[in-house]
Amino acid sequence: MEAFDSFALTLPIMALTVSAVFLALWRFGLKAALFWGLGFGCSGLGFLMSLPLGPAEAIAMSGDALFVFGFFFYGQALLTHFGVDYPLRHRLLLIGGYLGVDAYLVFGLGDLRSELLLNDLVAALLIGLPLSGVVQKAHATADRLLVAAASMVVIETLTRVAAINYLVGGTDDLAAFAESVYAVAIQLTAGCFGVLLAAAAFGSMVMRVMLNYRRAAEIDPLTGLYNRRGLDQALKPAQGGAAWSGVIVVTDIDHFKQVNDRYGHAAGDMVIAAFALEIRTSIPAGAVAARLGGEEFVICLPAANLAEAGVLAHGIRLRFAGRDWRQFGIDRQITASFGVAKMQAENDNLQAAIDRADQCLYEAKGAGRNMVVVEGGVFETGEALVADLQAALTALKSAQG
Ligand code: GH3
Ligand code: MG
Ligand code: MG
Repeated sequence: MEAFDSFALTLPIMALTVSAVFLALWRFGLKAALFWGLGFGCSGLGFLMSLPLGPAEAIAMSGDALFVFGFFFYGQALLTHFGVDYPLRHRLLLIGGYLGVDAYLVFGLGDLRSELLLNDLVAALLIGLPLSGVVQKAHATADRLLVAAASMVVIETLTRVAAINYLVGGTDDLAAFAESVYAVAIQLTAGCFGVLLAAAAFGSMVMRVMLNYRRAAEIDPLTGLYNRRGLDQALKPAQGGAAWSGVIVVTDIDHFKQVNDRYGHAAGDMVIAAFALEIRTSIPAGAVAARLGGEEFVICLPAANLAEAGVLAHGIRLRFAGRDWRQFGIDRQITASFGVAKMQAENDNLQAAIDRADQCLYEAKGAGRNMVVVEGGVFETGEALVADLQAALTALKSAQG
């Protein structure tokens, strides 16, 4: 049994090392890592209980409790990782009830077979129930691998339940069981699947951290829109394949410095966020909007022509200019100006189109603001639009008269 003895020490050392790694990660603010760390810690200590450290019953009972808590923490880690709420009370009641029955089986009846069966069943439930709640949330490859690994742990645990009836035979001798080939087989399979689970948990956590950093690097926190880096990334696939074609709208809030100076920076932030929301809710599916900095935004409309983009810009301009800000303590109208330019042919690039749209925006600013200037010299203010309508009305009246 010497090989078994050294093997018996390998597993707890491995599990406790994995636990230490996760607990270290937890200190970087990864909450699921705490539960993975506790889970592997309990399992590691549970594996230690295969060593003859004391009276067989006390060791068996401690091992049972540690494994069940280990599985409870794995379940909790899954729920935390996927951000799923799952009632805690039922599982705690299950553990409490289980420990009572287990104590009776171990100390009262000395019924090894029932003890093993119950331990595996409860363990499978404690990870299986949370698992059923998170399956639908696993979209990324690393998350799917984690769900697969956890499912395999459940299947392995349940398979053992079925195997116990055949393999344990007649022995109810706990001391003999700890030395049996079956006990070692349990440790071997549990160890293999434990390593699988640890690797999958680690992988999905690293992926999540990287996605969070990427998101933080590409999304503007005030508006939830892309920043310039995010915009470049969002348009990249289109740039990589067929040249990105479409229309660029650049917009900038008018006299925004006055808003800041008069109503404070916080009120200014609120106006920026409201303008971003106006943009976000106005653009069609497939369009991409980004905050270029300060109170300047860009909208990329892949499937639009200049006229359509001009109409969209006018709509945003009119709704924004028509907003009543009094409930936010701002007692004046706030407007924005717009420049619209088209991406030209394949040799055009995004920055060149943004620059041309910017040029139009400056024309709009120079011509009085609260205006849309479309590349090619078409520009309209709110007043010009009203004048156009009045002229059309007059023409209609004189035609009728
Ligand atoms: P114009 O009509 O010519 O665009 O005038 P403006 O006052 O809007 O122009 P300018 O670009 O000079 O002013 C923009 C101001 O926006 C200056 C800066 O202090 C402020 N600003 C930039 N970023 C933020 C921000 O995140 N929050 C707030 N509240 N203000 C910002
Ligand atoms: Mg401005
Ligand atoms: Mg500006």
